[in-house]
Amino acid sequence: MASLLVLAEQIGGELRKVTFNSLGFAKSAAATLGLDFNILLIGEDVSDMANELTGFGAANVYVAEDSSFENYTTEAYTQAVVQVANDTDAQIIVAAATIIGKDLMPRVAGRLDVGMAADIVEMLDDGTFKRPVWAGAAIAHIRVETERKVVTLRHTAFNPAEPSGGESNVETVDLDLDEDAIEKVNYMELEATESERPDLTEADVVVSGGRAMKDAAGVEMIESLADTLGAAMGASRAACDAGLVPNDLQVGQTGKVVAPNLYFAIGISGAIQHLAGMKSSKVIVAINKDPEAPIFQVADYGLVDDMFKVVPELEEKIKAG
Ligand SMILES: Cc1cc2nc3c(=O)[nH]c(=O)nc-3n(C[C@H](O)[C@H](O)[C@H](O)COP(=O)(O)OP(=O)(O)OC[C@H]3O[C@@H](n4cnc5c(N)ncnc54)[C@H](O)[C@@H]3O)c2cc1C
Repeated sequence: MASLLVLAEQIGGELRKVTFNSLGFAKSAAATLGLDFNILLIGEDVSDMANELTGFGAANVYVAEDSSFENYTTEAYTQAVVQVANDTDAQIIVAAATIIGKDLMPRVAGRLDVGMAADIVEMLDDGTFKRPVWAGAAIAHIRVETERKVVTLRHTAFNPAEPSGGESNVETVDLDLDEDAIEKVNYMELEATESERPDLTEADVVVSGGRAMKDAAGVEMIESLADTLGAAMGASRAACDAGLVPNDLQVGQTGKVVAPNLYFAIGISGAIQHLAGMKSSKVIVAINKDPEAPIFQVADYGLVDDMFKVVPELEEKIKAG
């Protein structure tokens, strides 16, 4: 029977939060199209994790386990997705547009010789997709002409699925991997930034600083507010390019897309490329000394003042409760 296949993303043995946004989309898209949906979990030793996915209404949770999946590589994962997509007659194959999803899914579409819609924010009832273009200044409607379709999701546009009860069938898939093809690429190592703060793309609260931080003392001031709030730290591209903070903190069109419950933009002008990465945040607070700064057009709360004066005051007030 035709179905929809959604990838559950895990890293280092932990399901990523985006998986639940993907499940939210999968559930509603499958209902719209009258399909069952199945979940695919890929990893080296992940069968226990599959139990965390059984209560969301999927017909099956497929587990693809192999030592080739110890670390993500495009070829190994592509083989698993393509095989399960074919075995389950998947009409739509879905993953979040994360670093993994963006790398993997075009290869999957190529291998299956089907069309792809990338970074979508909505599927309409007629099966067309919407995606932001020109840094979110316009929305394109995409029609994929092939019967089977590959899709990546902008996860911030979809609510995470709530458990709906029921018990999906869990099945370990019998993979027929082409080891020669997999061994053409060798995983060397992951140089991850160590941080006590929450992951920027998964945090409930993000505190971002712009070029106005100016120097290490300004960065420290923003970091301190972030820590007081238990927040992730973000930044504008100008702040990253100036070497004030590492590039992996960049929020925006060419950085990370975030949609926390609370986003602070401090000393950030609000260029369209920055807004592209944060304007879906639930509540936006802007602090900027220029009352004409474009960030105030998207802010729910705005404070026109010098950040070096008001940020320490704000932090004191938060600490005092
Ligand atoms: C193709 C492309 C992709 C891009 N991608 C991204 C992206 O992903 N993310 C991104 O952020 N940008 C991106 N940019 C860059 C973007 O256009 C802006 O240049 C950048 O966002 C500006 O950063 P900023 O607001 O920190 O700096 P500025 O534009 O210099 O703004 C600094 C702000 O701080 C305020 N300020 C100064 N001093 C104080 C003070 N003491 N107290 C309070 N406020 C103060 C100023 O009024 C001003 O509004 C991209 C650009 C291009 C062309």
